Amino acid sequence: MNEGPGFGVYVHWPFCAAKCPYCDFNSHVRHQPVDQARFADAFARELATMRQRTGQRAVSSIFLGGGTPSLMEPKTVGTILDRIAAEWTVAPDVEITLEANPSSVEAERFRGYREAGVNRVSLGVQALNDRDLRFLGRLHTADDALHAIRLARETFPRLSFDLIYARPGQTVEAWTAELEEAIGHAADHLSLYQLTIEEGTPFFSLHKAGKLPVPDADRAADLYEATQEVTAARGLPAYEISNHAKPGAESRHNLIYWRYGEYVGVGPGAHGRFIEGRRRVVTFTERVPEAWLKLAEAKGTGVCGGETLTREEEADEFLLMGLRLAEGIDLQRYEELSGRALAPERVTILREEGLVTPLGNSRLRATPAGMVVLDALVADLAR
Ligand code: SF4
Repeated sequence: MNEGPGFGVYVHWPFCAAKCPYCDFNSHVRHQPVDQARFADAFARELATMRQRTGQRAVSSIFLGGGTPSLMEPKTVGTILDRIAAEWTVAPDVEITLEANPSSVEAERFRGYREAGVNRVSLGVQALNDRDLRFLGRLHTADDALHAIRLARETFPRLSFDLIYARPGQTVEAWTAELEEAIGHAADHLSLYQLTIEEGTPFFSLHKAGKLPVPDADRAADLYEATQEVTAARGLPAYEISNHAKPGAESRHNLIYWRYGEYVGVGPGAHGRFIEGRRRVVTFTERVPEAWLKLAEAKGTGVCGGETLTREEEADEFLLMGLRLAEGIDLQRYEELSGRALAPERVTILREEGLVTPLGNSRLRATPAGMVVLDALVADLAR
């Protein structure tokens, strides 16, 4: 899994049927039907603008994320994918992922996505029991999730699904059993996230009021450890802090982020990072869907901000992303980006503390203990 980072296109569909109480993504609920043809036209305009900025590239991955992209009509997905292929060269083995919620899954729609070119689905399963699904504010039941998993397996060559753990009251035994069950459903990739309490969400207010007792740090660490053990024993080891795959089934799109490759981001609230004029630029777009739409229609893009990164900023981002991966970072590339090597004395101290470890002569990775304190580790290495 160690080929170059590649070039990706991220497309953000910002609408959801309901807002989950833990979610701080750019997702919006609308009570009137969304004019999908109008949005598809605006996506086409923003893609053309991005193509002008990036020049010709070979797209190795496309990711339709959200929000809930499975609320898009297959025709909308097809139009967007066709536009991407018209703007750039698309690699013959391109990975095209669509995020789907089990509550918005229908066989016909799935077939339509497959015909449009989607070859990988990422299902937001989150839990495999109804009580926890209700707690998480999800609109689907465990049976809906199993139905969606079956349908996705029949329709798409590749399947991933997400689960959230460290829920209130969750024991290591209960989580282990749920995880074993999930792996039994034969996904080739699992994203396993600890429940985090994000500011501005209903869960944040509940937690602040003492009404949401999430596991303490020790319990959360035990749950994390159990996650690593079960997935490794079942052939889906962690290749990134929260992502597990059978060898060869890693998400190529997310690897672009973590290996510090280039990607454009289109749609409301999307971010991009690509080389323009020999420097890496960051772009971000207007978050409110209707405001983004108007900007894209008037100006050809909803980009409302961005910056050109300094070498130091690039090198810091490269560390932060790359040390999330089991494969770690390429030290030579760090040197090329930052213009200097990592300070050997710092690396030695962190090695002695058991937080990093070399991989051969050319790579450095975070140990499991280092992964738990990654932000501090990066801050220490980058000084
Ligand atoms: S479905 Fe996903 S994006 Fe939408 S509100 Fe729930 S967690 Fe957020």
